[in-house]
Amino acid sequence: MTHSTCLPTSGPWAEIDRAAITHNLNWLKQRLPPSSPGQRTRLWAIVKADAYGHGLVHALAALQDADGLGVTTLDDALRLRSQGWTKPLLLLSAAGVPADALADPALGELHLVIDEVTQLEQLESATRRPGTGTLRAWLRHAGRLSHLGFDALDYAAGFRRLQALKAQGRIAEAGHLHHYAAAEDPESLVQERQEFARLIEGLPGPHCTGNSAALCGPLPEPLHPGGHWLRCGLLLYGASALPGATGAQLGLRPAMSLRARLVALRPIRAGQSVGYGDSYRAARDTWIGTVGMGYSHGLPRGLWERGRVRVGEAERIVPLAGRVAMDCFSVDLGPAPREQVGDLVTLWGQAPGGSALPVETVAEACGTIAAELFTRLTARLPLRAI
Ligand SMILES: *Cc1c(COP(=O)(O)O)cnc(C)c1O
Repeated sequence: MTHSTCLPTSGPWAEIDRAAITHNLNWLKQRLPPSSPGQRTRLWAIVKADAYGHGLVHALAALQDADGLGVTTLDDALRLRSQGWTKPLLLLSAAGVPADALADPALGELHLVIDEVTQLEQLESATRRPGTGTLRAWLRHAGRLSHLGFDALDYAAGFRRLQALKAQGRIAEAGHLHHYAAAEDPESLVQERQEFARLIEGLPGPHCTGNSAALCGPLPEPLHPGGHWLRCGLLLYGASALPGATGAQLGLRPAMSLRARLVALRPIRAGQSVGYGDSYRAARDTWIGTVGMGYSHGLPRGLWERGRVRVGEAERIVPLAGRVAMDCFSVDLGPAPREQVGDLVTLWGQAPGGSALPVETVAEACGTIAAELFTRLTARLPLRAI
């Protein structure tokens, strides 16, 4: 092995496995309560935040069999339409959306989440003519999250106003939406389900619940006579929403593998330091490998403390050595490494030879969750679909 500081030009990238997203969608569909006449549970595939960092267009290609797609911006909704999506779209909040913009026929069947009285007022005063499309509205219950939506006390009055809009033909449907605050805790999930069931008891209209943690759990959602939609994001991308379990353990396939290359290898002596702030000190003579990816690509700077990556053909697990820098970080390859400059490094996901490094493990090492790691990747990191 030669001591080299040669820098190959190829930068890091995220590989997006569309077949894995489709697999995860099918996994979810199998978990839905079975259909009975007039009682099919439908699934919103949530593709907000650029499909949790996986690329909206890549996710769209993989999610053709979803019943609908959920987004947080009107721009994303229009982008999905321009890419050919014709099934329903769910806009997760009406905040900041001018009611007249919703009359755009290009939006097709749009489901709008209403989380404030001002949004009801906007719909009531919109110049949109009745019957010009299929706008459906969902009233959001604030529940235990308390950040958006109607409190239990105001809910029934808000819902009556939505029903009036439906009676006037201004919207095609009025439904109930709840978002769980702590679905990963089975006891809390049961309580939240009961609270929501009590809230909407006797009210007409479909209901919409769920998130990944609720769908990982053992309890199927009870069917509601008015129809039922479930929403799911994270699981589609192959990550678990339950602490202590990986997506793979649940039967999901990771959709993103984060890759970079070794850009330098050098021997250092015992006691020598590596990285900014003398953050790592070699305990013995060793080789340091430097990887061409840093916090400017979205890696958490704190990954170095407990982080590990897979390197080279052997897909060996090695620890980080020193703080993550803007465009690179180092790993400790030990005294006699076989790896070479240019070798592949997998930071999470599936290594090409088949070994895995679950994103959940990486998230735990940096004190965060998989969804944050996915969505903090920056525009400097290209997405390559396979
Ligand atoms: C993001 C989001 C979801 C999806 O949550 P996951 O835990 O990723 O499945 C569902 N509903 C709402 C309202 C959301 O904002």
